[in-house]
Amino acid sequence: MPFMPVGMPPLGGPVGRSRMRLSASGLVSWERCSRQWFHRTKQGLSGPINPEMILGIIVEDALVSLLMEDPGDRALDAKPCWIEWQDDYSKPNDGGGEEPESLQDIEQYLLARIPACAAKVIELGAKKWKEAPFRSPERDWSEKSQDYVEALLLAGIELQLEEVEKCHAAGGGPHLSKWRENGDPHFVRAPRWCEEPRFPIPEKVPGNSLKLAAIKISEETQSKDESEITWFEAWKIARPWVKDPRVWQPQRLYHPDGWAAGELDMLLRWQGKATVVDIKSGDGSSGWSTGLASQLQFYQWLYLRTRTEESLISEVEGIEGWYLGSKDRHEIDIWSAEELIQKDEELHSIWQAMTNADGDKETWPEANPSAWKGESVEETCKRCHARFICDFVSEELSQEGLIAILPPRMKELSRQQVQEKLQAREPASPISVIPNRVNVEGRISGKWGPMSNHFGEPVHGAVLSTGAKSSVVVEEMAPGTFLELKDLADGNWLIKNAAPGVWRNSSRIYLDSRSSLVKSGEEDVEVTRIGLLPTRANVDGLVVSRRTAKGIRIDGKPWTMMTCHLWDGNHTIEVVVFGWGVTETFADITVGDRVLLTGAELGWRAGLPQLRISPRNSRIEVRSRDWQPMDELPDSIQ
Ligand code: SF4
Repeated sequence: MPFMPVGMPPLGGPVGRSRMRLSASGLVSWERCSRQWFHRTKQGLSGPINPEMILGIIVEDALVSLLMEDPGDRALDAKPCWIEWQDDYSKPNDGGGEEPESLQDIEQYLLARIPACAAKVIELGAKKWKEAPFRSPERDWSEKSQDYVEALLLAGIELQLEEVEKCHAAGGGPHLSKWRENGDPHFVRAPRWCEEPRFPIPEKVPGNSLKLAAIKISEETQSKDESEITWFEAWKIARPWVKDPRVWQPQRLYHPDGWAAGELDMLLRWQGKATVVDIKSGDGSSGWSTGLASQLQFYQWLYLRTRTEESLISEVEGIEGWYLGSKDRHEIDIWSAEELIQKDEELHSIWQAMTNADGDKETWPEANPSAWKGESVEETCKRCHARFICDFVSEELSQEGLIAILPPRMKELSRQQVQEKLQAREPASPISVIPNRVNVEGRISGKWGPMSNHFGEPVHGAVLSTGAKSSVVVEEMAPGTFLELKDLADGNWLIKNAAPGVWRNSSRIYLDSRSSLVKSGEEDVEVTRIGLLPTRANVDGLVVSRRTAKGIRIDGKPWTMMTCHLWDGNHTIEVVVFGWGVTETFADITVGDRVLLTGAELGWRAGLPQLRISPRNSRIEVRSRDWQPMDELPDSIQ
């Protein structure tokens, strides 16, 4: 289907973002420091959250929700649709407004909605901040005021009204007559509250089936004459495609070969060519803005690589960052046709380097920090959560990073003393000895796929058996990581460098680019018997990162995933628990806790080992924790 700003995932990825595809944020992080990308994105070792991270996401939702309004649709003092939708999304439009006749009417309608939307941003942000398990200790959500958010939303509205003015002055652009005939001519229309949301995979929307995929011809009367464009028409035509907050399925563009993906914030299309816009809640003065050019150029490249013959728009004429904090458009130079061709290869090789990095340090990308905007390279490292384990930085910076993650009871200790204290205690072993790769041999048959794995990603699989009673499931570690399996002839095979793991109490073998297949008997290597595959581990470490991720699957079912990273003084490993296995003990774990984990199931994520908590077989125990004032204590230990 020729979706325009969104597409079907060719290789899956509905649970969270795939760590196996190149994304704009991954590219920016890679360019800032490839090693930092590895720790942050591939290992998932993220630092504490700050209020700006939360604000950026919610302000974007609030702003696009205002752009989805149809001025005059309701009374001036009616609730903004975004708020009404959150309260009760089945509520019909109550009408009562008047169609705007001027730009001022449109502006007045939108401005009247800003205070309520800003109040909602503050309310939602406060909740998210409170629920975040790892927050910057010196920061607080109360730093953000409603007045500040109102100013951000006003800036966004004014930037869009500039587009409306330009569109009006240009007589509506090249698609005016199409608009007048049938409404929005784009296959994926710019979302509006007065129209049903459109889902990229409508057949997975419970109770809706294909209904939502059908293009709804706007019910409003379209003027078909040659009359001058009205301001209301200019508002509708200039309205950008935005990520519809009602759509829980990924609204991403997927490279046809599956190795890159990206989610645009906004796409202006009224001029007949596309302008990609990224919404920023800051003012563009911080070092983070250094990555804007790479981010937007990546989107330009991805947008163009996902066009089809049916696409109404096949050119990108602009890429812009809208900085709401300073009401600025930062226009970035687009890549030329020659540069775009070069980038195909360059981006692909970056993706390959990303894919090849795994648990073996030899494969890690180099530590190559680039200078922070107007500051030194050191500033990049100072802001890096992984500096406590990075061998590139100075002793001083590494120690500073260590102190930042240590609990108060350990802050006075030297690195060596910390390492001694963190030595694994019975029955745990050091993280470095967690079983890694194995060779297995047997008959491969019963291939299937692609079918959803436990992350909801479609992978190929088969059964490897060594006799009537001994068999194990063999599966791609992630979509497309071992496509050889798909067309493999049934027969006896030796699988080298397979990753052993367990899922729902049964052993499982995962395959990725490090794995290989040879015919049985062709090589003489040590083989692990299926019954002896390592599947569990006991670890003892300090919690150095903590995250909770929530979302909605493509079929509308909610999911939750909690993770923490344990550090044993030398190595780190990610521990994950899925919604149905979350216990109060895990939910209460915070950075600085010393945790003993026994019976954790060995799993794999993007080529790296990951320990999974099984509600039945794993046990997690907080060995030491700093005492805090009573009102700060998690419920479970109050
Ligand atoms: S500390 Fe500096 S060099 Fe090391 S990973 Fe972080 S940014 Fe890169």
